[in-house]
Amino acid sequence: MSRIVMKFGGTSVADLDRIRSVANRVKREVDAGHEVAVVVSAMAGTTNQLVAWCQALSPLHDAREYDAVVATGEQVTSGLMAIALQEIGVDARSWQGWQIPLRTDGAHGRARIEGVDGDLLIARMQQGQVPVVAGFQGVGPDNRTTTLGRGGSDTSAVALAAAVKADRCDIYTDVDGVYTTDPRIVPRARKLARIAYEEMLELASVGAKVLQTRSVELAMKERVRVQVLSSFADASGDALPGSLVVDEDEIVEKEIVAGIAYSRDEAKVTVRHVPDRPGIAAGIFGPLSEAGINVDMIVQNVSAEGSTDMTFTLSRTDLPRAQAVLADLKPSLGYSEILADQNVAKISVVGVGMRSHAGVAATMFRTLSEKSINIQVISTSEIKVSVLIGADYTELAVRALHSAYGLDAN
Ligand code: ASP
Ligand code: MG
Repeated sequence: MSRIVMKFGGTSVADLDRIRSVANRVKREVDAGHEVAVVVSAMAGTTNQLVAWCQALSPLHDAREYDAVVATGEQVTSGLMAIALQEIGVDARSWQGWQIPLRTDGAHGRARIEGVDGDLLIARMQQGQVPVVAGFQGVGPDNRTTTLGRGGSDTSAVALAAAVKADRCDIYTDVDGVYTTDPRIVPRARKLARIAYEEMLELASVGAKVLQTRSVELAMKERVRVQVLSSFADASGDALPGSLVVDEDEIVEKEIVAGIAYSRDEAKVTVRHVPDRPGIAAGIFGPLSEAGINVDMIVQNVSAEGSTDMTFTLSRTDLPRAQAVLADLKPSLGYSEILADQNVAKISVVGVGMRSHAGVAATMFRTLSEKSINIQVISTSEIKVSVLIGADYTELAVRALHSAYGLDAN
């Protein structure tokens, strides 16, 4: 007997038929003798609708009321799922964030989880009841409902799995696992049976949008084994095998490269001819970070005649704000001009095996040069090499790299 948290995303609970079929999935686990807790998202499209309503009434709406509105999507599905389970003879009860309680900080709209009390839920599970928890929501220090940011019910599920000491957290979604790259670009992408937390984290943050990044961070910290699998079962109703996100030690046959990720949400900024003296990097990146702008790759060129160029990348949506911040700094920094390029993409090669194998970066550079793709910026970490290239070459680069690292399925 195991204790399992099963989380179902918006497409898996998009209508009553799907809610019924999810209830049947849950029943199979209960009948197999497992203790089960369920976490649900809102029905597909619901959260977008709720957000749009808030925005239509007031672009600068009160974040507490935003949470009061958007948290309702999950309240509906938790109740409906409990009804569907009861209807097929499974003892079930819905739970809102405040009832558990799942406590968060007071950052309405993007709250962080501070603690989850697992006791009440464990007691119910031990009695054979299935708690059906509304994902995405918690309760803040002001006793008001909070939400965890878009995609947050993945994080709810992982936090809950940690709190009830579950053996596994199964995340049912509209993809059937984690792939070596985006199968829409590379049809021969392979599903990974196992992937290490750190690899998943890199893939999640560089564009493979399978799990909310924060849920992976939390899983890694709390050592929760997460399985990503499709909510659409085979004909007999068995779940298709998914991908297990686990500790590196659990992966016996480590690939050097686990996957190739890409992101088209990037922009590149070059600050030309800044004086090359101590304090210049602080003078540029300090104000950007105070403005809440995350900078990713950074290169500082060699100095010529006492001045240098500073190039960095950031999220494309932050570009206008970054340009405004830099314009204000022109008198104090004394640069000559700002160049901005939105026609760029970041391609990343990720794998824990890189720690012990040389040559991964060299293979990347050679492969791109064979395709005549120019590399504009490079950055590396222990388990990742990223390059910035022209956006038009994204697909070509991803395909070529996927083959070069031997990731293509046969
Ligand atoms: N319903 C929320 C959203 O659409 C949370 C989630 O589904 O994870 O962002
Ligand atoms: Mg999701």
